[in-house]
Amino acid sequence: MPHDQHADAPLRLFNSLTRAVEPFAPIDPGHARVYSCGPTVYNYAHLGNLRAYVFTDTLRRTLLWKGMHVTHIINITDVGHLTSDADAGDDKMEAAARAQAKSIWDIAAHYTDAFKQNIADLNIIEPSEWTVATDYVPQMIEFAKKIAPAHCYELESGLYFDSSSVPDYGALAGGRDDAAHARIDPVAGKRNPSDFAIWRKSPPGEQRQMEWDSPWGKGAPGWHLECSVMSEARLGHPFDIHTGGIDHREIHHPNEIAQNQAYCGCTDAQPGFTGARWWMHNNFLVDRQGKMSKSKGGFTTLFSLIDAGVHPLAYRLLCLGAHYRSELEFSAESVGAALTRLKRLVMAVEGLKARAEGVTWQSPRLDYLRANLHTKLSPLLEQFDAAISDDLMTPRALPLLEEAIALKKVPVDEKLCLVAAFDQALGLNLLELSRADLRIMPKGAQITPEEIEAELDRRQSARAAKDFGLSDEIRDILIARGVEVMDGDPLRWDWRPELG
Ligand code: AMP
Ligand code: ZN
Repeated sequence: MPHDQHADAPLRLFNSLTRAVEPFAPIDPGHARVYSCGPTVYNYAHLGNLRAYVFTDTLRRTLLWKGMHVTHIINITDVGHLTSDADAGDDKMEAAARAQAKSIWDIAAHYTDAFKQNIADLNIIEPSEWTVATDYVPQMIEFAKKIAPAHCYELESGLYFDSSSVPDYGALAGGRDDAAHARIDPVAGKRNPSDFAIWRKSPPGEQRQMEWDSPWGKGAPGWHLECSVMSEARLGHPFDIHTGGIDHREIHHPNEIAQNQAYCGCTDAQPGFTGARWWMHNNFLVDRQGKMSKSKGGFTTLFSLIDAGVHPLAYRLLCLGAHYRSELEFSAESVGAALTRLKRLVMAVEGLKARAEGVTWQSPRLDYLRANLHTKLSPLLEQFDAAISDDLMTPRALPLLEEAIALKKVPVDEKLCLVAAFDQALGLNLLELSRADLRIMPKGAQITPEEIEAELDRRQSARAAKDFGLSDEIRDILIARGVEVMDGDPLRWDWRPELG
């Protein structure tokens, strides 16, 4: 039955600049330009890093849901990020190359490929473009030449940005915090503790694997420079949204903003210019030891989760179950619960697909859905739209998906249209996944699927003969070997994830 037209819920996003949720509209009507700080490819991404990209993907899918065209850039940091997150210490890439006795280029290629595999496994839409820091060094030098006269000074170790040369340095972080900067950054001769390197000269007598000629001598760019340069080169300043993890709100992004202000030279003409209109940050994934971090080691990767028998989209679902601005705890229990929730969703959608055979339900368009949905479903569509338009409230959107699937007396094709529409925003791949796809054999499994099937046949015979003692015994043996027996499940059994 046709339903009344509803206006779109207005899209509202939290802006870290104002610490407020604000109505969002792109600078170019209908076209949003987004830049996301990408991974430093000296090691595998951990699950916390990947939360940052599930967040940006949710943002991108929501912009698409609202009918916008999106240009999305993610960079690959293959130079410049120092082990101390500041200006002293080794380049993370140089250190990893030394430790593994490989060239930096090999290290970068290996971990970039691994990251792209993670992105694909999480059903994250590929960015419109990956920008690689080392491809932009000449542009970084040009950028530095332009800002140097009015904003930089030279020390023996490199060219430094004078953070007092721009108004409101550190506003994004909630004000400048010299004490915090002084703690992390012991470079002698800096004018202000929060000054930072634009160019790091190679120490005399030492050859770095990655170094370039510059007006300030042989060396390598400072880490913050790349994001200012690549966002300007690919999106133009100002663009719409800049994203990163919440740690970037404190140093990396304030430094980018300072550089952008210096480069545009328009601090007086355009007060409040930062280079991007929205700065958005995801909160941390934590575990019982605290924030998950690469430098602490012992972190969990998506690869190790898959090796343990957990489908990667269960991790995506875990992320969507929390709002991106809340801390999220990762544990065996939380990811196990997300896997169970995903299985229920996939089984339910498989059931709908089986009932809808021969009916077309693909490619739902929102305006079509709005006009044609069953009256029982249309309020769910509006509530879903309102939830994701409210600063990407996925924890409120997910139960609406579950509610839609469970509704009785609704035509199955309409339900599938709605699920497909919701999944365009959620990215759980619900219409492609099958229950069997979710049964991932843990790497350490001690029993083969054939042996399990044989045991279950034996159990079925025992039950047929009403020998429930033997039936329970077989079930217990399988549990001890890491296999769950599931009487109501069409697959009959599943692996128990081998999580620590
Ligand atoms: P990196 O590879 O260290 O440059 O980090 C890549 C992205 O992951 C950045 O946006 C970080 O802010 C983000 N990030 C780092 N640790 C976490 C964490 N534990 N939880 C969520 N995001 C994180
Ligand atoms: Zn960045």
